[in-house]
Amino acid sequence: MALTYLDHAASTPMREGAVAAMMPFFSGTYANPSGSHRFAREARRAIDEARDDVADVLGVAPGSVIFTSCGTEADNTVLAGVSGAAVCSAAEHHAVLHPIEERADGVVIGTDATGHIDLDRLADACRTPGVGVVSVMAVNNEVGTITDLGEVAAIVRREAPDAVLHTDAVQAPCWLDLRSIAPLVDAMSFSAHKFGGPKGVGVLTLAPGVAVDPLIVGGGQERERRSGTHNVAGIVGLATALVETDQDRATEQVRLTALRDRLVDAVTGSVDGVVETVPRDRKVAGSAHMCIDGIENEALLYLLDEADVCASAASACASGAMEPSHVLAAMGVDRCLALGALRLTLGHTTTDADVDRAAEVVVDAVRRLRARAS
Ligand code: PLP
Repeated sequence: MALTYLDHAASTPMREGAVAAMMPFFSGTYANPSGSHRFAREARRAIDEARDDVADVLGVAPGSVIFTSCGTEADNTVLAGVSGAAVCSAAEHHAVLHPIEERADGVVIGTDATGHIDLDRLADACRTPGVGVVSVMAVNNEVGTITDLGEVAAIVRREAPDAVLHTDAVQAPCWLDLRSIAPLVDAMSFSAHKFGGPKGVGVLTLAPGVAVDPLIVGGGQERERRSGTHNVAGIVGLATALVETDQDRATEQVRLTALRDRLVDAVTGSVDGVVETVPRDRKVAGSAHMCIDGIENEALLYLLDEADVCASAASACASGAMEPSHVLAAMGVDRCLALGALRLTLGHTTTDADVDRAAEVVVDAVRRLRARAS
């Protein structure tokens, strides 16, 4: 039986166009793009073109685009490279949360019941003198909540006008028009494997005039902002996937909203005690996060895995732990309910058959686990 893959927020399959665009750069145009000969210039041209394409979709100048090795590196660079106190939301990915928690001057702000940063507490934190960087994610990787970055930006510009405002937009490209986010913030992070590009390549954008010390120093690539030989194939694959994602976004939103609703309705309509963690109008179309009463998600994931349904409980990095996720804890979800969290995430390869099969398997697994418990 084919896999039913509903873990797109962890990693989405590569787009065929991205795979094809990368191929010539493995064994054909293999030169180091920093070289001075014509073969190197060919590789450099590919990076320049990719940078232009990425800048166009992100709504920034090409000079603002810095290629990194992943979303984590992009996040870490901003947080390590700006002096002063650092502020973030309690629902951030660990790539933002851990660096801020480790700092003596790190401030972590709570969220409301949907996982959205508490705006009053954000304003209070920004009023403290010496805030250097504020980082608030665009879309939550676990529960899918969309942040109102317009409101966040208005608060940060008013209360801490000198702070760098960063958004971890790693989960945004499939769902949000990135050109509307760029003018609100100073820095954004992206990761190719979340939108049909390869793993191991990301982007950090820095608005003109925003000074961030480099995390990786050496050969001075990326205008001294990120040293290290360019991952040419990865960068080309990232750019191709991003352009295709941008072109397909509007139609995919409609298609996947209908599929997500069908999946969640099928589960909630068949078994009692299933709570949709975040209301549909507050989250992205690809997110079907539920908390299932009386179930331990480890046992549920085991049964789903046995039935060839790929899902997750929390973010991929945290799965396997029996503690409720930090995101659900921040949202104030009851601990017992949080232990029954199930994250199903849809993406560009998701079909009608996938959601129908997943719903059937989830319902069957919940019934079996409850029967076993009683
Ligand atoms: N930020 C968010 C919101 C994510 O979902 C992820 C990946 O799960 C990351 C950062 C880290 O990205 P990468 O896997 O490229 O390091």
